[in-house]
Amino acid sequence: VFALFTAGNMNAQKKPYLDKNKTIEQRIDLLLPLMTLEEKVGQMNQYNGFWDVTGPAPKGGNAELKYEHLRKGWVGSMLTVRGVKEVRAVQKIAVEETRLGIPLIIGFDVIHGYKTLSPIPLAEAASWDLEAIKKSAAIAADEASASGINWTFGPNVDITNDARWGRVMEGAGEDPYLGSKIAVARVKGFQGETIADLAKVNTIAACAKHFAAYGYVESGRDYNLVDISNSKLFNTVLPPFEAATQAGVRTFMNSFNLVNGIPATGNVFLQRDILKGKWKFDGFVVSDWASVREMIPHGYAKDGEDAALKAVTAGSDMDMESHLYVAELVKLVESGKVKEALVDDAVRRILRVKFELGLFDDPYKYCDEKREKATIGNKANNDGVLDMAKKSIVLLKNDKNLLPLKKSGQKIALIGALANDKNSPLGSWRIAAEDNTAVSVLEGMQQYKNNQLVFEKGADLIVGKATFLDEVVFNTTDKSGFEAAKTTAKNADVVVMVLGEHGFQSGEGRSRTNLDLPGLQQELLEEIYKVNPNIVLVLNNGRPLTIPWAAEHIPAIVEAWHLGTQTGNAVAQVLYGDYNPSGKLPISFPRNVGQVPIYYNNYSTGRPVNADKNVFWSHFSDVEKTPQFPFGFGLSYTKFDYKNLKINKTAFAKGEPVQVSVEVTNSGNYDGKEVVQLYIHDDFASIARPVEELKGFELVNLKKGETKTVTFTLTDKELGFYDNSGNYLVEPGTFKLKVGGSSDKGLESGFEIKE
Ligand code: BGC
Repeated sequence: VFALFTAGNMNAQKKPYLDKNKTIEQRIDLLLPLMTLEEKVGQMNQYNGFWDVTGPAPKGGNAELKYEHLRKGWVGSMLTVRGVKEVRAVQKIAVEETRLGIPLIIGFDVIHGYKTLSPIPLAEAASWDLEAIKKSAAIAADEASASGINWTFGPNVDITNDARWGRVMEGAGEDPYLGSKIAVARVKGFQGETIADLAKVNTIAACAKHFAAYGYVESGRDYNLVDISNSKLFNTVLPPFEAATQAGVRTFMNSFNLVNGIPATGNVFLQRDILKGKWKFDGFVVSDWASVREMIPHGYAKDGEDAALKAVTAGSDMDMESHLYVAELVKLVESGKVKEALVDDAVRRILRVKFELGLFDDPYKYCDEKREKATIGNKANNDGVLDMAKKSIVLLKNDKNLLPLKKSGQKIALIGALANDKNSPLGSWRIAAEDNTAVSVLEGMQQYKNNQLVFEKGADLIVGKATFLDEVVFNTTDKSGFEAAKTTAKNADVVVMVLGEHGFQSGEGRSRTNLDLPGLQQELLEEIYKVNPNIVLVLNNGRPLTIPWAAEHIPAIVEAWHLGTQTGNAVAQVLYGDYNPSGKLPISFPRNVGQVPIYYNNYSTGRPVNADKNVFWSHFSDVEKTPQFPFGFGLSYTKFDYKNLKINKTAFAKGEPVQVSVEVTNSGNYDGKEVVQLYIHDDFASIARPVEELKGFELVNLKKGETKTVTFTLTDKELGFYDNSGNYLVEPGTFKLKVGGSSDKGLESGFEIKE
């Protein structure tokens, strides 16, 4: 003990930045001057650890080189290192074998849980339940931190209205207001309420990504260019990023795409002017995977040196897997092309977050095997993700009162390969989770024992095995199971069909031009309908699907997304009425792909209405103008009535708060929850405003027969908008107001803002 104590003391003298009594900024001031240029650049270098880092590095190639760099102190961060054993191994090298012993920050894509999986983020957004979403992120942080990780590459706060884009599953949907609230909930769930909470052992640094406008890739094709107006950028894309910054998010990730011709990674306007300038963000920016190098094929950088120069100049502080900072930056500083102050600024930001996490005080704080064992997959975490899964389900249709199912005496046919799938419901982006660990819908329903349940898959969904990296291949030929499924359906009182997309059909690189039920599923659905039309369709999907036939014919439709580990339990509890669904769509569902992008907060044309029923109004001649299911839509087993919408005055001075109240009554037969939504429309402005915009919502619990008054306050924050230069304006004029349970209906009123 004495020896250790002495060594520690000596350490503190040689390493004054280890003195806990100093502030973080003082500690950085003590550390930075001790660092060589190589060591500084090393902090800006991030490598992945896909191989087993506890063993020797494979001879030759990347891994061996990475070990060498690690030992020299030329690596500041590693990603995708799995589990305490591996993290300890690399951390030990950084802390005990390098000159200054600067700990690594360990990143991982903890997107919707670590091993115990929550619903995919788009599904969680459908809960509109900010507390539940925060808790879900906290569970993810709890498990990831117990496994050695201290930084997640989430939340994804990309707004998108393009269902073709595979990464729509990772975000919160199409609306910037809802998206901003969810961004804050997720940041706080991962990091804690304040930055000081980062020092706790069960919190991790969050990362707002992808900065910016990645959700607007042209035609929804992943990695494609983004050509976007300032109005859309300032009013739709940036607000969730700004909200995350205000909530204290410690890191940002930039993105692969061009933004109006300039790669996000090399974008001075986005990263320097807006993020670090206007928003005063003091954490650090990591590039996306090799996005520094991708500026070369983008046609924006001449070569590796030029790419490193442009990225660092634009404010990309850490290079994920381009290997270009480590190769080029020292030379660039020595030749005077990059000022050392730029490097110092980046390093200061990275060190700041490491200090905040407490890594300098105890580099092994996340390396506790006992905690890892006790935390991963424990009951509390499973209960938590089950709760989130139930809250994420959206009831889209319930004619004929097929739902909830009766708890006894019913003959139920369960059909569709996805009903018996334990892998697909885990969804995309679940790198740490074991395959086949979801409770399937079949397993969930089997727990309700007083009914007769018969399962028939009807047809396989895919051929072979679906993986994270390979393209999913659908079964389009083998109908050999159709007849057995039809016979089972014919003999049943109710048919539950679980159809949709495989979990690996959405996510990165998984864009589609066809949003119909893939493979043989539509045909199977129609065949079953012929023998028994009492169908409850349970959808599994990572994006809006186009289901016009089902929407017309199938009496009950339940949107169950990819709900993670507890999928089957959540679905069964909703189907049997043990949980009354309350989810609302966070994104519009189109009728067909040609309508895309279709979104509720769109703009009026000069020919908005079908007044004289001629063809010269803005519409498609072959499909309804509306979406199949609008933003904010979702049913319940009970019924909610709205009345007495009141505004405290009719005219307001600029800056004066607008008070709105409405009475909501549960007039049905079940206790339930309603998401009460408030929309405004600014009638005329110096820049035309959307036909409606969500500006408030509240989740209300109502017992059957109960009435509650819900109130909202609208301030300048809700009533203004950004002009094309990014200035925030609140303009006088008249506004319309709508309050209801969906974007397409509600009680209406209006008010005026005076000069
Ligand atoms: C994705 C990021 C992710 C990173 C690290 C990239 O391909 O775009 O969202 O965080 O990989 O896995």
